[in-house]
Amino acid sequence: MKKVISFGSCRFCGQNSLHDKEDFETIEQANECATLHCNCAEATKYQFQKKAEENRRQAIKRAEEQIENLFGGGSASYGLLPVENIIKELILNSAIMIYDGLLKDVSVNITSCLKVKISKSTKGKLTFMRSDAAVFKQEV
Ligand SMILES: [Zn+2]
Repeated sequence: MKKVISFGSCRFCGQNSLHDKEDFETIEQANECATLHCNCAEATKYQFQKKAEENRRQAIKRAEEQIENLFGGGSASYGLLPVENIIKELILNSAIMIYDGLLKDVSVNITSCLKVKISKSTKGKLTFMRSDAAVFKQEV
């Protein structure tokens, strides 16, 4: 039979909480849940950190999707050329550094006609601006 725990304590202040809606298989899971629902100062700080980590994870996932859409397989549907994987990695790494506040924005000239600007909006959302300039030059 599966062991069921429906009682956990906050890891910081020790306050007990009963989880009547969820059952846990380990005491760590029950304590984690109690900590995530406690109102003490340390638990609140912990919840804030967890939220920030989750937001960052989500932002990176969205950035990966955006990059794939704009520079990977998705770009062909806009009639644009996809770029090499290593370039997509560069764009993603730049985006992560911008998200973390290490850089304000990054502009990459992929070719003389293809540029990307990566930045963060005032709402904290990562934005990718791809510009493809068609250059026609004839030498005679
Ligand atoms: Zn607590």
